[in-house]
Amino acid sequence: MVRLLLLGGPGSGKGTQAKRLVDLLSVIQVSTGDMLREAKAAGTPLGMQAAEHMNAGTLVPDEIVNGIVQQRLARPDCGNGFILDGYPRTLGQAQALEEAGVTLDGVILVDVPDDLLVERLTGRQTCSACGQMYHRTYQPPAQEGRCDRCGGELVTRSDDNEATVRERLRVYRDQTEPLIGWYVAKGLLKRVDGQGAPDEVLKRILTQLGRG
Ligand code: ADP
Ligand code: ZN
Repeated sequence: MVRLLLLGGPGSGKGTQAKRLVDLLSVIQVSTGDMLREAKAAGTPLGMQAAEHMNAGTLVPDEIVNGIVQQRLARPDCGNGFILDGYPRTLGQAQALEEAGVTLDGVILVDVPDDLLVERLTGRQTCSACGQMYHRTYQPPAQEGRCDRCGGELVTRSDDNEATVRERLRVYRDQTEPLIGWYVAKGLLKRVDGQGAPDEVLKRILTQLGRG
């Protein structure tokens, strides 16, 4: 049973790593970004509200996100453990999680310098069917515009344009970076170099978890 949080800037690769860890550790990925994008695609009232914030690169209000995550964590499939990806993202969210009685075994900070984050985000492509991620330069699909895994269409996320990316980085520095100190103080933070190929980063994470 493992309950992890992956922390890192937009484009740090935490989503990619979360997906790999899910397969290796047989746990559930809880990605607020994915859940909010699903709500947005489904056109639910919550999704419409979230979309405004996401397109601007700002955060969806804590009350909304806290509610979604607590409902998700209460489902039985989370009983074997989970990987939180993109939540908590503010001190208010971290507090809410603690007040909900959720304890974490570790927090992995996927550390990537800012200039590399921008480069990664602006070349990123995602499969519209299965969520697999690609990069025009670093990790191109075998056939342009098609997912290697499922053949689905590759799309650029609407918030991966340069203006929104810059705003997301600013928001990360202002609102999410303070979580690093919060989890250091709790003795939970493990820092991992997020540069290099996804496989290398995964190895570093597994080493930090004592599963290398
Ligand atoms: P990235 O980490 O690459 O920015 P995510 O998929 O995690 O991508 O998040 C995309 C957007 O979804 C964020 O910019 C924000 O608007 C919204 N979002 C995701 N998670 C949260 C959260 N925990 N709190 C508030 N907003 C969130
Ligand atoms: Zn796919």
